[in-house]
Amino acid sequence: MSKKKYFYIEQYVYSNFVNNNILLYNTFTNKFIDVFITNKELLNFIERVLLKDNLRTIDVSQEELKNVIIAKFINKCRDLFIADIIESDSKPFIMSPIPKLNQNIRESIKGNSEHVLNAKNMIKELNYFIDSKKTLCTNIKLKANGYKQILFPFYNAEIDKQLEFLTIEKFLFDMNIQNIEKINIIGNICSENYNNEILVFFKNNFIQFHTYYLDFDLNGTFATEILKTKNKSFVFWIDNIIVEDQILKLNEFVIKNNIYSIFKFIVTNEHEVNQVIEFTNTITLNYELIPFFNQTNIDFFENNIFNTKKDILNQKLNEREIFSKMYINILNYGKLYFLPNGAIYSNLNINPIGNIINDELSYTLKNEVLNDNAWFKTRDTILPCKNCIYQFICPPTTNYEKFINKNNLCHYNPYIAKWQGEEGYVPVEKCGTYTKEKGFVVNKRKVNTLNKQIWGEE
Ligand code: SF4
Repeated sequence: MSKKKYFYIEQYVYSNFVNNNILLYNTFTNKFIDVFITNKELLNFIERVLLKDNLRTIDVSQEELKNVIIAKFINKCRDLFIADIIESDSKPFIMSPIPKLNQNIRESIKGNSEHVLNAKNMIKELNYFIDSKKTLCTNIKLKANGYKQILFPFYNAEIDKQLEFLTIEKFLFDMNIQNIEKINIIGNICSENYNNEILVFFKNNFIQFHTYYLDFDLNGTFATEILKTKNKSFVFWIDNIIVEDQILKLNEFVIKNNIYSIFKFIVTNEHEVNQVIEFTNTITLNYELIPFFNQTNIDFFENNIFNTKKDILNQKLNEREIFSKMYINILNYGKLYFLPNGAIYSNLNINPIGNIINDELSYTLKNEVLNDNAWFKTRDTILPCKNCIYQFICPPTTNYEKFINKNNLCHYNPYIAKWQGEEGYVPVEKCGTYTKEKGFVVNKRKVNTLNKQIWGEE
């Protein structure tokens, strides 16, 4: 029996094929091929390889091997150790790169009440907002919307009652608190409303206290109490550096007492970025720059936050990291947020999933798991990312996307397979419209016309 030639994609290569656009990503070397295919023979060849039943291995005919475009594609794949050709009597078996065990995890969780109960074990982070009305922060936009984008203290004049910590204790009573990796307490922790029971209840957990830098009273009771406890750290939120003195004193306090802390400078434009860099150049400070969308600075976000091709493909992701993005939103997963009125959220930009005063933990978790609110909000569930070959390479959606009401904070148009700066690029908005209710709605006619203009046919 004569041997046949088989083309196969290596097991460690991640592939995605959407509307003539293919991505082959080598998870060992992070080298990749991303092309929009217009040639019919090559398109047919790739469709055959990626047909589910073919398990990414096909026999290659002599005509295909002689076809210059297919041969060029095969050579490129071989150069990058993405795919190869093997001669064999029978079709070789190449293992599927997708872990079967997890393939339908979302569905199995939804259909299985046991899994929903086990969802308690999925909780990894609790975020508890305490009342922060007594604040020295005067930034109205930050006070109104900061908590929806970053873990900035929550201010709401209408909520006049502080959630008692006892209520949280009751709510969490049958949970294994030790499993929780991190607790964030956000707000004016030095105010009289601050409840010391938190420190006792979570004594064995890692707690991070988030507070507005001017609200921290270095001579108050809290500053003294905190020095007696372990596993604690601070985040100081700073929206301007006018009171440099306070930053220096806080820095001195945390260094002297060996408390891990981060100074988070909130920036809304390039000028503020430069100011912070200039200031931090003069001192030793553990700091981060945190962008804030104030509804008037979309240009700042486009220039500094939106993903470029380099940002996405330079992440050096391994197989495991890519697959985890297929099933969960790694930024949201396992996180719960409690507001002072008792409302519980899995993401603060969408509706609450329960109320700590009236609902049980299992009801709340079921709500999250069954409604795909945040934990399982992967890019293949939202447009236009659903139509994009980079959907599982791209970083997961953040609060910024939710707040700006635009899923694709990037410079890529997946409908025409063009990055900004490439010939023929037009923004994704030219291929459809964003509506508040439905999100992005594609206009297929426009997409076809644009693709004919840009790509034509070989
Ligand atoms: S369209 Fe979505 S998945 Fe594609 S690069 Fe942009 S943000 Fe990422």
